[in-house]
Amino acid sequence: MAGNGAAQESQVSKHQEVGHKSLLQSDALYQYILETSVYPREPEPMKELRELTAKHPWNLMTTSADEGQFLSMLLKLINAKNTMEIGVYTGYSLLATALALPDDGKILAMDINKENYELGLPIIQKAGVAHKIDFREGPALPVLDLLVEDKNNHGTYDFIFVDADKDNYLNYHKRIIELVKVGGVIGYDNTLWNGSVVAPPDAPMRKYVRYYRDFVLELNKALAADPRIEICMLPVGDGITLCRRLT
Ligand code: SAM
Ligand code: CA
Repeated sequence: MAGNGAAQESQVSKHQEVGHKSLLQSDALYQYILETSVYPREPEPMKELRELTAKHPWNLMTTSADEGQFLSMLLKLINAKNTMEIGVYTGYSLLATALALPDDGKILAMDINKENYELGLPIIQKAGVAHKIDFREGPALPVLDLLVEDKNNHGTYDFIFVDADKDNYLNYHKRIIELVKVGGVIGYDNTLWNGSVVAPPDAPMRKYVRYYRDFVLELNKALAADPRIEICMLPVGDGITLCRRLT
């Protein structure tokens, strides 16, 4: 029915707006989390970057403030020092990471798009954490291949955040599982993919959601079956699966 379809479509778009980036059933509950626990504690540079990104046409891609807070807490809990990020956009998760790491911490950050990184860069510089970032423009896969080639890089990363092209996540996994430390953590982002992982095949879905859905489903199955890692899928943001390397 046309009416129903429109309602479903508006439901789809609501969850894609910045500020509604949550899979919680109630938007009010999500707002409560943001207003009670996230925004009051959000570092000023992250607030500035979030507001700048909100004006950008692709703002849908940004990490949400609650997920930024989660990443920051996680990095501190595991005493992360040497980290990697695949998929930077304007740098919200990158800045959360850079602020959470000690002064001599490192982030190898990769993105095919440098322009968006450069939008956020002045804020990162002003925050005094740019020296921790080694940004590489271009596709991540060849960079990972080079890193894996050199055995000295094996088992050297405390944390790796993957938030880029979902159709490559399994290719990334094959490589970064060698690069993360035993006991270190990989975070795969968007593993609940807009809730589409449980949507019926005829559900209204944006084209890109439908396209990447099968890759996300395949990734989720592969991670659950991988004996080299312990996993935990969290409904934070659009779903993040934490993988702790076991062997
Ligand atoms: N973590 C970011 C943040 O907090 O705002 C969001 C990243 S956004 C969801 C995905 C990014 O992946 C885009 O900036 C895109 O340019 C980048 N990307 C897409 N394909 C890539 C590839 N093959 N290698 C590296 N980056 C890629
Ligand atoms: Ca993401």
